[in-house]
Amino acid sequence: MNNITLQGIQFDEKSSFMRGPAKAPALIREALYSDSANMFTEDLKDVSKMSIDDKGDFEIEEYFNIEAITSRNLEGDGKLLTLGGDHSITYPLIKAHHEKYPTLDILHIDAHGDLYDELNGDKYSHGCPFARIMESGLATNLVQVGIRTLTAHQQEQAEKFNVEIHQMKNLDLSKIRKFENPLYISLDMDAFDPAFAPGVSHYEPGGLSSRQVIDLIQNLDAEVVGADIVEYNPDKDFQKMTAYLAAKMMKEILAKMVD
Ligand code: MN
Ligand code: MN
Repeated sequence: MNNITLQGIQFDEKSSFMRGPAKAPALIREALYSDSANMFTEDLKDVSKMSIDDKGDFEIEEYFNIEAITSRNLEGDGKLLTLGGDHSITYPLIKAHHEKYPTLDILHIDAHGDLYDELNGDKYSHGCPFARIMESGLATNLVQVGIRTLTAHQQEQAEKFNVEIHQMKNLDLSKIRKFENPLYISLDMDAFDPAFAPGVSHYEPGGLSSRQVIDLIQNLDAEVVGADIVEYNPDKDFQKMTAYLAAKMMKEILAKMVD
C-alpha cells in the first residue's frame, strides 16, 4: 500500500465572489474523524489503518508560497492529498506535482471550466487555474467533467488547450478517456448539484449527484498520484452536509491513491 501525505491549504483570497473556503480543511477533517460514520471505504479499505502523514493546515499569506509548501510536502514517497482552499491553489499544486511527475493527466470535476485567461484583472483568480496549467504545459491531458457554465471565451480556451470536456448537458461518463499517465484528481465541490452540496460559493443547478461522482472515482482505471478537494465554503453549508460529502469523497479518493 502506498503512503499518503495530507496537507490543508487555508487560502481563499483569489475567490471572485465570496470568501470562506480557507476555513474548510479543519472542518473536512472533523467530518472525516467524526463518530457519525466508520472509516471504511465502500470497497472495504480501512482509512484509519492507512499510513497517512498529516502535515496539518497551512495559513497562506502569499499565493506564491503554496508551491514551495507543496514541494516540501511532496518530498519522500508519499502521494499528496490537499484540502483547499479556493480553486486558485490548484495551479501551484500542479506546478509542484509536475516536478515529481513530468507527465501528468488531470481529471478536473467542476461546474466551471476555470479556463479564463483572466478574471477581474487577476490571472491567478480561482476562475483561471487551468488556463495557467495548460499554457505552462504542466498537464499532458486535461479532462473536465460536470461543466455547465461555459462561455464563448472559455470554449475558445478549451479548444486552444485541447481540453476534453464532458458537460452536464448530454453527459455520458462512459465516454471519458482512459488515463495512461499518472493521474491527478481536482475536485471542486460545486461540481455536485447544490442539492447535494450547499456549502459552496457558487450555486450552479443541474449538477452531478454524489453517487455519480463516487462511481466516477471508483471506476477509474488509472494510477492516481495526487488530488485536491477545493471550494468547500462552510459559511454556506447546511447542517455540515457538504463537509460530510467532502469527507466521503476524501475516503473514496484515498482508496484509489493507495491502490
Ligand atoms: Mn473550480
Ligand atoms: Mn466551480
